[in-house]
Amino acid sequence: MQDVILPHLFAQLVPGVEVLFLQTGYHFEETLQTRDVAIRDLAITVIEALPVQSVAEQDSQYGEKLHDRDPNLCCFLRKVDPLARSLQGRAAWVTGVRRIEAPTRANTPIVSWDSKHDLVKINPLAAWSDDDVEAYQVEHHLARNPLVAQGYPSIGCAPCTRKVAVGEDPRAGRWSGNDKTECGIHQ
Ligand code: SF4
Repeated sequence: MQDVILPHLFAQLVPGVEVLFLQTGYHFEETLQTRDVAIRDLAITVIEALPVQSVAEQDSQYGEKLHDRDPNLCCFLRKVDPLARSLQGRAAWVTGVRRIEAPTRANTPIVSWDSKHDLVKINPLAAWSDDDVEAYQVEHHLARNPLVAQGYPSIGCAPCTRKVAVGEDPRAGRWSGNDKTECGIHQ
């Protein structure tokens, strides 16, 4: 939730639409505030996808700060697995992935068969530019995650997100210092 474009778009088309929030337990407070504003202002039903273990339980089993030592395992436990369980039995899911966000997303189709989750995957914003995003937010007076204006153009979990400098790759602040570029839910 660095923006609320997708929930806003679908709230008008499908009032009460279910919006999945991956509650990793590591979100910035500003991200949770943005989620709460979306719940307050939009006709959506937010469902939290929870990991099997709390952060404390994970720390107990794997040691503290697994995100620093094995971010792939941490992302699997706190994002990939909860998402997969939440999508079971669904016909389709919709994501806000855009092609311009990263080289790994450059060929994102609008609609595809998601064989990993066994359902249709729809990426309606795939072809949107940054200007399209800005224009939509201005036109509809949408709430924004305050971190974006503070130098966080791409926002994930707090331990794995840093500010980026002007002109730097917007996703350079994700898993900085690690060759990891995606959490695994879109691969
Ligand atoms: S982004 Fe970082 S803290 Fe969040 S689930 Fe992945 S490794 Fe863990």
